[in-house]
Amino acid sequence: MTSSRFDLRGKVAIVTGGNGGIGLGMARGLADAGADIAVVGRNEAKSKAAVEDLKQRGVNAIAVATDVTDKAAIEAMAARVAKELGRIDILINNAGMSIRKPPHELELDEWSKVIDTNLTSAFVCSKAAYPALKASGGGKVINIGSMMSIFGASFAPAYAASKGGIVQFTRACANAWAPDNIQVNAILPGWIDTDLTRGARQQVSGLHERVLARTPAGRWGDINDFAGIAVFLASPASDFVTGTAIPVDGGFSVMA
Ligand code: NDP
Repeated sequence: MTSSRFDLRGKVAIVTGGNGGIGLGMARGLADAGADIAVVGRNEAKSKAAVEDLKQRGVNAIAVATDVTDKAAIEAMAARVAKELGRIDILINNAGMSIRKPPHELELDEWSKVIDTNLTSAFVCSKAAYPALKASGGGKVINIGSMMSIFGASFAPAYAASKGGIVQFTRACANAWAPDNIQVNAILPGWIDTDLTRGARQQVSGLHERVLARTPAGRWGDINDFAGIAVFLASPASDFVTGTAIPVDGGFSVMA
C-alpha cells in the first residue's frame, strides 16, 4: 500500500512528452501512485500506446494531441483535461528537443524552434494550467532541465540556453505561486538512454564512452530512474520543497 505521503489517488497529471522517453517513465511512476494522466504529444500512435500502458496500471488516461509550440492548442488541451478528467493537480513540462550545432552554425529559426519547444512551452503550459491548479487548492509543477542547465556544451547553444532558462523560470514560478500552495521544482536529468540521446550518440562521436567515463554510477540513466523523483515532487511528501533543481544524474554533476 502506498504511504499516504506519496499517494496520488484522486489527482490528475498532465505530462507533456509523456508518450515516450523520460516523460513516459515519469507518467508510469505517477500512475503507479494512483494519478490519472493526460499524455500530451504530437505523435498520436505513440500517445495511444502510452495511454494503454498507463491504463494497465489501473488509472484513467487520455491522449491529447498537442504541439507545445502552439499557444491555442495548449489552452484547448488544458481545458479538455480539466473537463474530461475533472481537475488538474500536477503539470510536468517535459517535452523537449535539440538541434546540435555550434553557435556559429546555428540559424535563427533553429534557435527559435529549440527555445519555443523547451522553454516557452513551459511558460505557456504553466499559465494555461494555473487556474485549474489553484482551483484544486494547490498543485505541483515539475519542469525538466538538463545537465546543460549547469554546464555548457559546444554543440548545444540553444538547448543549453533553454535549459538554463527553465531553472530560472522554475524559481520565478515557485515565488509567484507559493501563496496558492503550488510548488514548482525542476529535475535535471543526466545522460539518459532515450530517442533524444540515441540521436546525439549518432551525431557526436565518442559521446557514449565519454558519458560512461564521466558518470560515477558507471552507466547511462534509464527512463525508470525518473518514476521516484516524479512521485516525490508530485506528492504531499514535497509540500515544503519549492524552487529547487534536483539532478537525477548518477553523480554526473558532482564528479570531481
Ligand atoms: P524523447 O525524444 O524520447 O522525448 C521527447 C518528447 O517530447 C516526446 O514525447 C515528444 O513527443 C515530445 N515533444 C517534442 N517536441 C514536441 C512538441 N513540439 N509538442 C509536443 N510534444 C513534443 O526525449 P527524452 O525523453 O530524452 O527528453 C524528455 C525531456 O528530458 C526533454 O525536455 C529533454 O530535453 C530532457 N532531457 C533529456 C536527457 C536525456 O539524456 N535523454 C538529458 C537531459 C534532459 P511527440 O514527438 O509525440 O511530439
